[in-house]
Amino acid sequence: MVAFALTTSLSVPAQTVAPSTLNFTQADLFLRFLRAQAGGAVAPALLDSVLGSPGTALVIRQQNISRTVTLEDYRTILLHAGDSTPPPFPPSTTERARRGIEGLVRDVWPAMHWGVANVGLLAERLRQLRQMDFDSDARKRALQFLPPGAQFDGKPFVVMGGRAGGAAFDGGEIYFDLLITSYRGAHGGEPFPSALEFTGYFAHEMHHLGLAPLIDRTRATLQLTPDQARAFDFLRFVVLEGSASYFVGPRDLDVMRRSPTYASFLNDQAALLPTVEKILNAALHESVGGDALDRAQAPLAGSGWHAAGALMLAAIDQSGGLPAVFPVMLDPRRLLIAYVRAGGRPPISSSLAEEVANMGSK
Ligand SMILES: [Zn+2]
Repeated sequence: MVAFALTTSLSVPAQTVAPSTLNFTQADLFLRFLRAQAGGAVAPALLDSVLGSPGTALVIRQQNISRTVTLEDYRTILLHAGDSTPPPFPPSTTERARRGIEGLVRDVWPAMHWGVANVGLLAERLRQLRQMDFDSDARKRALQFLPPGAQFDGKPFVVMGGRAGGAAFDGGEIYFDLLITSYRGAHGGEPFPSALEFTGYFAHEMHHLGLAPLIDRTRATLQLTPDQARAFDFLRFVVLEGSASYFVGPRDLDVMRRSPTYASFLNDQAALLPTVEKILNAALHESVGGDALDRAQAPLAGSGWHAAGALMLAAIDQSGGLPAVFPVMLDPRRLLIAYVRAGGRPPISSSLAEEVANMGSK
């Protein structure tokens, strides 16, 4: 997922009128749905069209990366978008389901509810996005911070109704969520992106598309025990999000510290890296997995993985630049040891860093 935006309203330079490669189908349907909600009646066929749209499948899939959200849960939220309070849900039986409902009730429902009252603004922003030609700029920006040989084929969507501002999937689908981004911009979060920053959203997701297969190629060469595999996959996520947030973003931790998305994590450094160490120790030394590993990662919920990765990669970047960073991007096992060797502050356990760097070596 992505959070990248610094200035105010969307402004579209006059020359960017080339036809867009973006897929707007779900956003158009969602706008009709919000308009119908505002009018007090949603035709069942329209609700079914929204629920059956590939863009809606993507926003549900994104939430299921670290949570559990079913199509039924999502239908319930849609049906109650116009109510004055979010709908009640029965108690959840797993940590992922609990987090899934929490995300729907705290993030997704309020954005939809706000959207019902702000259909005009959303329609205007959608119209502006249609005028934009962002693809080659976003691609260039992503490639600039990817190891040599990286490539990707993005299928960009504009959607509404999700939790994340943006997301990338292994089929090459990437999205920008107009509704959640507009809602957060109106409620003290990151302001709605300018045209340039909109490019940044897609560049962040393209960076994921380019890097993930390279990391997976490294993983395939290793002989990881199940415990080590969980530790690796956690670090994979930290490196993917940290590198996209920091490099494709401002490449400046001080700027990130002022961002509402990362501030709470980066201004509490005494907690951030110890959480990372705790998760790795739990996975490696206590065979913690499944629901318990999900609970251990709860302090990172939101953009904690991004902030932790950015903090460590920034130290590596400052000591050795991209030549020092690329080997870490290709092999997330090297993240901690490279941070230790770069003299990163606050310090972390060098024995854990050594252990992690050697996981699964033949
Ligand atoms: Zn991301």
